[in-house]
Amino acid sequence: MSSRRRAACSLLALSLALGAAPALAQQNPPELQAVVGHDSGERITRSADVRRYFEALRTANPDRMVMGDYAQTWEGRPLFWAAVGSPRNIARLDAIKAATNALADPRKTSPEQARALINDTPAIVWMAYSVHGNEISPADAALIAARRLTDGLDAEAQGWLENVVVVFVPTQNPDGRERFINSFEAGLGAQPNGDPLSAERAEPWPSGRYNHNLFDLNRDWFIQSQPETQGHSALIREWRPQVVVDSHEMGTDSSFFFPPEAQPLNPWIYPPILDARERFGRNTAGRFDQAGLDYFTRETFDAFYPGYGDGWPAYFGAVSMTYEQGSSRGLLARRSSGEMLTYADTVKGHLTATLSTIETAARDREKLLSDFYAFHRDGISGGRGAYVLSRSAAADPAAADKLAGLLVRSGLEVGRAAASFSACGQTYQAGDYIVNLAQPQRRMAETLLAKDVPLDPKFLAEQEARRARGLGDEIYDLTGWSLPLLFNVPSQRCTGAPSVQTAAVGPELIRPAAVASGDATYGYAIHPGTAGMRFLTAALTDKLPVRSVEEPFTLDGRAYPGGTFIVTRAGSPDDLDEHIRRLAAGSGAQVTPLATSWVSSGPSIGSNKATIIAAPRVAMAWDDPTEPESAGSIRHVLEREYGWPVTAVRTRRLANADLSRYQVLILPSGGNYEQILGESGVANLRAWVQAGGVLIGVGSASRLLTDPDSKMLESRRESAVSGDGDKDKKDGGSEIATDAEYLALTGHHGGAPDPVAGVLASAVVDNEHWLGAGVAPTLSVMVRGSDIYAPLARDQGTNVVRLAGPDQVLASGQLWAENRRQLAYKPVAMASEVGRGQVVAFTQDVTMRAFLEGLKPLFLNAVFRGPAHTSGTKGD
Ligand SMILES: [Zn+2]
Repeated sequence: MSSRRRAACSLLALSLALGAAPALAQQNPPELQAVVGHDSGERITRSADVRRYFEALRTANPDRMVMGDYAQTWEGRPLFWAAVGSPRNIARLDAIKAATNALADPRKTSPEQARALINDTPAIVWMAYSVHGNEISPADAALIAARRLTDGLDAEAQGWLENVVVVFVPTQNPDGRERFINSFEAGLGAQPNGDPLSAERAEPWPSGRYNHNLFDLNRDWFIQSQPETQGHSALIREWRPQVVVDSHEMGTDSSFFFPPEAQPLNPWIYPPILDARERFGRNTAGRFDQAGLDYFTRETFDAFYPGYGDGWPAYFGAVSMTYEQGSSRGLLARRSSGEMLTYADTVKGHLTATLSTIETAARDREKLLSDFYAFHRDGISGGRGAYVLSRSAAADPAAADKLAGLLVRSGLEVGRAAASFSACGQTYQAGDYIVNLAQPQRRMAETLLAKDVPLDPKFLAEQEARRARGLGDEIYDLTGWSLPLLFNVPSQRCTGAPSVQTAAVGPELIRPAAVASGDATYGYAIHPGTAGMRFLTAALTDKLPVRSVEEPFTLDGRAYPGGTFIVTRAGSPDDLDEHIRRLAAGSGAQVTPLATSWVSSGPSIGSNKATIIAAPRVAMAWDDPTEPESAGSIRHVLEREYGWPVTAVRTRRLANADLSRYQVLILPSGGNYEQILGESGVANLRAWVQAGGVLIGVGSASRLLTDPDSKMLESRRESAVSGDGDKDKKDGGSEIATDAEYLALTGHHGGAPDPVAGVLASAVVDNEHWLGAGVAPTLSVMVRGSDIYAPLARDQGTNVVRLAGPDQVLASGQLWAENRRQLAYKPVAMASEVGRGQVVAFTQDVTMRAFLEGLKPLFLNAVFRGPAHTSGTKGD
């Protein structure tokens, strides 16, 4: 018997001798089988059973575990956490959280105070699992890890818990997990079948990866558009862990990945965090070697994008890491090598990595806490100047408000200026936002707000060399995500911090607006933009009469932008003023009362240049061939952000459906629509457009709209600009005299341009077209993939949004020179009348990740203004 085991026994004897309630004494934690009916690895444990087992562990040893809920999924499932620690630490969790929060603010905690706290505080180790629902083994590993930790007789585990508190978040995406288990079990035969062709292992659209709204939660951490990430991020802000692990699965043929990560690394990661990842990696490598498990490091999984579950926490000073186990995607999988991988094998991989992590953290407790304090000190001491976000100069002030609230949700301190001030040689107004860089989470501020986060030049040179050999680049996700660009809010990084009084900004995303006072005899004018669009959809829901003046006008000496909405008193209910007050408060829209409709310049509100906005009935394609994330984000933006119902129609049914009751049909980015719809299906869509429908194609759905056979839009998708004009002569033999000629000859042969991992590009808007009405004159667009389209000629339609010229097009991120030259001036949004209807093609995914706030008014224009520009029926 080990000394710790003896200690536990004598403690038990002592508590009995003192007359403590026997229920509080050490109990053996129950086996998984006894609670959920199967042993570990035998079945994929359902989300509800994961929770049930954690509850059973807590019931057995309430002095070693506490649990709580942090949010609820769209499907109503609770999202929970469970903290495991020694009885002493579990009894003082509030004090521990207070200590980590104190360490996170060196302005309130001196180095002496910090030393005292570090001496007496366990490190908080955050173990999060199965954020992708079809990555199944992590959650099952969490069950067994938690069982070991609550076993008071497990001397090794109890030794670790002297030094750490472990917080489990076992199922980050239970909706996705259940979707996976349902399709797996429905496809299961008499025996598990490891064949990759087997139905049980071939997930139908949209797969279990995503949450209910089809968001990739492992990209959502700074935008926090979903309840899963909103709740989880708030929990991390509350606890402030020193170690965060996000446990995933990857392809069946792969072994196991843990850090150090592949290049590129985000340069804003605090260097001691990289060192710590190496220490954790080495320990885990030792454990894997002992267990005879294969692993790899430094390949594939990078650390550049800050929206990952292992990205965002790093800017809270946590040693954050992704673990990836090759998935059995079911109970059994045959690898291409012929080797059989069982679910139990995959659970073992994650269990080993989890326990190794806890072991390392327990060993390095003091260093972890010291580095954590030092991270925040470095934030303060290394910070000079400030980012200034100009709400007053933003085309859409509501986007600036949302951005400020989101930064607060990422742990940043944001101030709202109480008066006008000058900074960087510019004058700013009261209400503009200031993010001082001398703050504990400076590195979060820099990575989210910097115009550009540079890639390591050595990495870039390697990528160019790969491309020259015809290999793809190794960039895993976006290279541009600058939040001021995503939100289209003017921002400056000033070297001096502005001196002006500020009020601390809270986490609210909508700033309620009050209606300006004045005579509203005629009605109200509503400023366009995201808040104006929120107002519009709410007003249409309330059946208020709305029209839109699409050109700028002046009324009562006041200038109104094109796209301004008007609610007239005529046709409104008697309590119009009350409606308007409520809608302004809820939407944040800027609302001005109008005494008269007498316009001194620009079109009259009563002329037919002011279009009537009717409530459109909107349908969208759902299921194959749409990309789940594109379909999900379109539906999310319309339904959840703008409260507008959408009928999601399985794409196959669009082929012969009677669409006449819909005014708008949206095709999300996706694969081969022609194949699913067939020729007659495409003809069905075209006939519906010709009769007055608005057909909106997003991202690669533009391929269908620009296909000559679809006869909808005259633009064409471009192939790569070839480097050499003599390709046709190849058949007749060739002479190659130089390296350059060799590269040209073996390079592109007119295929698609090289794909772009994801950059922010500058675009110019035609505000005179209805699709551009009320949209900012310049925008940032996320450009991804290899689709580039030729602009429309004037008689073919309008290029309502086009990219800037070659020298201005790149706003943020890494764009290959060939792509930059070919993308310049190319269309982002094209519109054309087809019969009595309209076709709109967005060549990029404008609702991607729901994070392009600046593009939302453009997308919503297509949906809500589009029907006014057809000769079809207008909706309700
Ligand atoms: Zn994953």
